[in-house]
Amino acid sequence: MQWETVIGLEIHTQLATQSKIFSGSSTAFGAEPNTQASLIDLAMPGVLPVLNKEVVRMAVRFGKAIDAEVAQRSVFARKNYFYPDLPKGYQISQYELPVVGKGMVEITLEDGSSKRVGVTRAHLEEDAGKSLHEDFHGMTGIDLNRAGTPLLEIVSEPDMRSAKEAVAYAKKIHQIVTFIGICDGNMQEGSFRVDANVSIRPKGQAELGTRAELKNINSFRFLEKAINFEITRQIDVIEDGGKVVQETRLYDANKDETRSMRSKEEANDYRYFPDPDLLPLEIDEAFINEVVATMPELPDARRARFESQYGLSAFDADQLTGSRAQADYFEAAAQVGGDAKLTANWVMGDLAAALNRDATDFAHSPVTAVALGQLVARIKDDTISGKIAKDVFAAMWAGEGGADEVIEAKGLKQITDTGAIEALVDAVLAANPEQVENYRNADADKQPKMLGFFVGQIMKQSQGKANPQQVNALLREKLG
Ligand code: ADP
Ligand code: MG
Repeated sequence: MQWETVIGLEIHTQLATQSKIFSGSSTAFGAEPNTQASLIDLAMPGVLPVLNKEVVRMAVRFGKAIDAEVAQRSVFARKNYFYPDLPKGYQISQYELPVVGKGMVEITLEDGSSKRVGVTRAHLEEDAGKSLHEDFHGMTGIDLNRAGTPLLEIVSEPDMRSAKEAVAYAKKIHQIVTFIGICDGNMQEGSFRVDANVSIRPKGQAELGTRAELKNINSFRFLEKAINFEITRQIDVIEDGGKVVQETRLYDANKDETRSMRSKEEANDYRYFPDPDLLPLEIDEAFINEVVATMPELPDARRARFESQYGLSAFDADQLTGSRAQADYFEAAAQVGGDAKLTANWVMGDLAAALNRDATDFAHSPVTAVALGQLVARIKDDTISGKIAKDVFAAMWAGEGGADEVIEAKGLKQITDTGAIEALVDAVLAANPEQVENYRNADADKQPKMLGFFVGQIMKQSQGKANPQQVNALLREKLG
């Protein structure tokens, strides 16, 4: 039997507002537990929620970024359930009338082809608090700081057919929400949470199979692994004569498996009804037009601009727009460096490697974009060679100062004085008469490789500081 996989994703993006969706409490991450939850977030009797306009602006921005319909009228509903991290007993969400309707994104697959994935809807809701299991023995701590944090839940159509496609779609949504500045995209801190609905069906069958919903996935890598585990599990269940049951399953990254959390039967009946404390959300044309007029550059447009404005290859432009932080970093560095291609090489090469090695990212790089640009400028104006620049970069990374400071302190300035280089060349030739003889007797096609020996000696003598182009030219002249 040939099986086809069907995947639909639900993505919760935490909106990057200063304050919460219905109150003025701060949304900052990492504060002392329960210092950022107000009476409104807890729904104490007598308080009234007031919708944060910035949240609406962000939702509309997303809707417009994926070519979706933005509803002129949407409704906030109460989703009723009790859980320790939701002591108010209901979550304010949107149910029947979401703010963002059908839209579409285009993903690029590994073979270079592209595919459209439908977005069913995106709705606004408030987040719940957090249960803390680690610091308490035999007890669970409750931190309500996250209660009332604005979320935009983005629901896809069941359009994906493999784990790789699901990852490509999730990355695309991640790219869009970070580029338009509505979400910081931090998956570790839970600002971008992906739940995957996975089912299988016999190839060619139109009807969808029964799905399992996978939760607790906090990286793109785990998203791929969780889905692939789940596909194999479902095929095994069916081929052993069983049936897949509709349920929520938790992904365990340590064991690389999914485990049943709750079945459909145990699922809550949420008894949704319109929240009587909130008016329907009405969005007029003028507001939408204003959002469109101030829309930040979208990732696809930025990639195209990187090719046309900086003359970068499609590959480089694609890499550099992998995240907004990286694209911003590159542009700031290129402006100072004065050479886009050289800057691109440094950003994707040495810098990316160092960030990766030290498990940090572009936004937190110890070498700032301006500092990297200054280093590139010193390569470009021949103050240092590309090779020496690697040492300068390492020193900058270690906090020893800016490019000029390091070059000065370590005496790394390139030797470009013709007289000085000539003296070095003469000394090396004089010290190696046998090699000189061999070189002169060798075939022309062997000579370039033999020249390397002399270049190496001279660079060694000059501690890498002699200008390589000048050294090569002088050597050829004197040996010729
Ligand atoms: P719920 O509200 O119960 O979570 P929805 O119908 O809103 O259910 O679907 C949630 C997500 O699950 C959507 O992304 C949808 O595309 C996906 N989905 C629905 N049915 C299937 C299925 N049979 N296989 C895979 N994904 C599915
Ligand atoms: Mg769901």
